[in-house]
Amino acid sequence: MTTAQPASPAHPPRVVPAELVEQLTRGVIGSGRTACHSPLTGLPLAELPETSEDEVALAFDRAGAAQPAWAARPVRERAAVLLRFHDLLLRRQDAGLDLIQLETGKARLHAHEEVQAVAMAARHYGRRAPAYLRPVRHGGAFPLLTRVTELRHPRGVVGHISPWNYPLELSVGDALPALVAGNAVVMKPDTETALTALWARSLLIDAGLPPEVWQVVLGEGPVVGPQVVRHADYVTFTGSTRTGREVAERAAARLVGVSLELGGKNPMIVLDDADLDRTVAGALRACFASAGQLCISAERLLLHERVADAFLDRFVERVEALRLGAPLDWGTDMGSLCSQRQLDVVTRHVEDAVARGAKVLTGGRPRPDLGPYFYEPTVLADVAPPMLVCDNETFGPVVSVHRFADDAEAVVRANATRYGLNASVWSRDARRARRVAARLRVGSVNVNEAYGAAYGSIQAPMGGVGDSGIGRRHGAEGILKYTESQTVAEQRLVPMAPAFGLDDRRYAGLMTRSLKALKTLRFR
Ligand code: NAD
Repeated sequence: MTTAQPASPAHPPRVVPAELVEQLTRGVIGSGRTACHSPLTGLPLAELPETSEDEVALAFDRAGAAQPAWAARPVRERAAVLLRFHDLLLRRQDAGLDLIQLETGKARLHAHEEVQAVAMAARHYGRRAPAYLRPVRHGGAFPLLTRVTELRHPRGVVGHISPWNYPLELSVGDALPALVAGNAVVMKPDTETALTALWARSLLIDAGLPPEVWQVVLGEGPVVGPQVVRHADYVTFTGSTRTGREVAERAAARLVGVSLELGGKNPMIVLDDADLDRTVAGALRACFASAGQLCISAERLLLHERVADAFLDRFVERVEALRLGAPLDWGTDMGSLCSQRQLDVVTRHVEDAVARGAKVLTGGRPRPDLGPYFYEPTVLADVAPPMLVCDNETFGPVVSVHRFADDAEAVVRANATRYGLNASVWSRDARRARRVAARLRVGSVNVNEAYGAAYGSIQAPMGGVGDSGIGRRHGAEGILKYTESQTVAEQRLVPMAPAFGLDDRRYAGLMTRSLKALKTLRFR
């Protein structure tokens, strides 16, 4: 059993001042009342408005009314709002870090990852949106005779549904490209972490966003979520695979586009030439950042059999030295789970694995002495089907260890899941690691880093395959998905039909010769 240390006595968690709650929820449409709770105490943190089904429609009406004027502004003006937001976020980050910690229970270092990710998105889309959205000229049907321009129009009002685990990044981080592309957004954050999303919205308003352009609706997911999908011109969803499927079905019935960022069962592959000290440090981040409640965290450690024992000796020792706790301050390594629901899932997965023969190398127990939902960082060996933990996402601080004999077996084991979100490969030979990476059926692979290298590379797409989702955030795909392309083709001098006295047969012959010539001339 683990001897994971309490870091420092948890500070008494602060409450969110009523004036701040009042200020953040101003403008949220909702005649009902609901509440969010802090995982640090299990007690209510703030009372919030709750949006009824009819009120969701009203939020879409308001967003839709405000959107054309926002879209009519030059893209550089919209982008400037993001760049000002970037600066405000970094300047006022302490307030945001407190809110993230209070709402999620994560360690401050992991809360800061969200600030970093959002700042990167604001900078990237603030600088690059004009180029991404610029009209693009193409070669037409016939050179010189057809002039073609591809335009990018906003979709209208984007419905955005987000989870509780990264409440800053997955709310505003994903809204920024939608907004800068000229859309309005109606967002449904998870109620338990709504204050963080509302805080981000308040910063964006201070940076110059017209408030009506970003509406927030709050309430039970199965009640409010379907209403968001019902009214949206495009849906972006981050959450579980089960809910994602339902969202996709509803969106498909309306023929509106959807992007889905879903769950994972991510592998971390340690090859036999890996630098073990660096790899062990990376594994701590990969498995236990945000107490494992990170969609791209590692839940499967695949170890080359030649280094497995040496790796595990060091890894288990370091896991047992992790400092647990979530004071509103720096200096802890892992915080709390977010809710009783997460604690139940983690407990069930570990108990089921142990009952079916898995061995606990360290951890395996809740830690109510630290807070109601704390759970020890846990390493399991001898994990095999049909244990729940084997191929279901746990979304907690639990990692299973497996061994492999060569690179080919590592790839087969890594790919043996219906998920395909993220992976990491560790080796001193970067070319070998990249070869392994290219054979993994996942949306992103980090070489010699846990997850931050891929996620932080904001110019490159990020997302999942298989049960991990559809579509991408970041990079060109992360903004163009929020647009409709429109092709404007202008025909000059000669029509695309028989003319100048040509009969149909001679026109067809002329076209045939022209097509042959275009291929010979390497026209694309
Ligand atoms: P969830 O699916 O239960 O909820 C996500 C959001 O959907 C919440 O806002 C919820 O209120 C709402 N919702 C619930 N029922 C709904 C319905 N019927 N229709 C529409 N919306 C509904 O997921 P969760 O437990 O909040 O989040 C954890 C999951 O999210 C994990 O599986 C994790 O891997 C995944 N996740 C994925 C990414 C990614 O980028 N791939 C990032 C973070 C989290």
